[in-house]
Amino acid sequence: MILSLLKDVDISQGVNVIGPIFVLSVYGLLGLNVYMFCNCYLPILYNNKISYLPLSGPDSHIAWITQSMILTFIFFALLFNILFNYTMAWLISPGKLQEYYKGRIKGSKENPNLECKKKNRPTNAIANKALKACMRHTKKTIDKIDGDWEIRCAKCTFLDDMDEETGMNKLPVKPLRFHHCSICRGCVINMDHHCPWVNNCLGLKNLRYFLLFIFYLPISNLFVGMIIWHCRGDPHYRNYPMCSQIMIGIHIGVFLAMSFFNLWQWYLCLKGIPQIEYLQSLDMEINEGKGFGFPGICDNIYVTFGTKNIFKIFLPSFRPLPLEGLEWTLEVVTTKKKAMEVHERVIDMSEERDDIQNIEIDLTQP
Ligand SMILES: [Zn+2]
Ligand SMILES: [Zn+2]
Repeated sequence: MILSLLKDVDISQGVNVIGPIFVLSVYGLLGLNVYMFCNCYLPILYNNKISYLPLSGPDSHIAWITQSMILTFIFFALLFNILFNYTMAWLISPGKLQEYYKGRIKGSKENPNLECKKKNRPTNAIANKALKACMRHTKKTIDKIDGDWEIRCAKCTFLDDMDEETGMNKLPVKPLRFHHCSICRGCVINMDHHCPWVNNCLGLKNLRYFLLFIFYLPISNLFVGMIIWHCRGDPHYRNYPMCSQIMIGIHIGVFLAMSFFNLWQWYLCLKGIPQIEYLQSLDMEINEGKGFGFPGICDNIYVTFGTKNIFKIFLPSFRPLPLEGLEWTLEVVTTKKKAMEVHERVIDMSEERDDIQNIEIDLTQP
């Protein structure tokens, strides 16, 4: 029901126009934050000798310099993480179906693929059973699915080949976990949602940057909020009436919104389910999306971040991910074949047994 309501509203055009404005406004506000920190808060903290830390003494000049340097370092470290992750979430492709057909679209003789170079790919040594099963397919390409997979996306029309029967462009396969975004006009692997603030879809390839962006944002709000609290009575602070009002509003608003949003997004990440699949699982008519997350939290973190190390997750990185996105479909396709073979063998061996019909194999489990 939720999905059918969303489908009726054509907001794609509006979001496409608003997107770049939102991106500019995010950079603008971050710039204003830096301007206020360097010109307003930091001089007040230094000149008024406000101490947060148990430094060597109330009149120690070195103590105030040290404190200012530490606060400046924390401020810029948070800012760097916010900027890096925001920019990556904005610029990195979430994993679009066109890209899996890349070689074919360009007419190149190379096999269309998105194989990562072997040396860069994380090993499956630390993965659990279900994830290891998926990782067996990492080197396979969209061609391996094309013959065995019936589902196609009627909205993606990037293939140039003509279908002889219909005289229309051939439709690309729509592997499992791909969802069509009407704003990006393409299918996206593990699509979470289309975010106008990053003017991009969030999918398998860029969700980690978005998660870290929304993780560092409220921490920065809290940190700068604490500094503003100490600076608010100072005469120098009153020299920036307009900017300080905007900053207070932004910091409180973003902190409240992002805190709850973080809980929700990280919960889904730990479960290994993107938002769209969660909504689909609520819609009783659609069962697709249930059961794709791995049973272990660590495996889901590994798929999203490419590492299980809790500290490395929060560091800025370009590390490759263990899965490319086609593995769930390949696993179902091969499991189906295997399941059929097993099924036929069982029938051959015991044709007269009555309980054959009771054999059921769940093909949706990865
Ligand atoms: Zn599509
Ligand atoms: Zn999109």
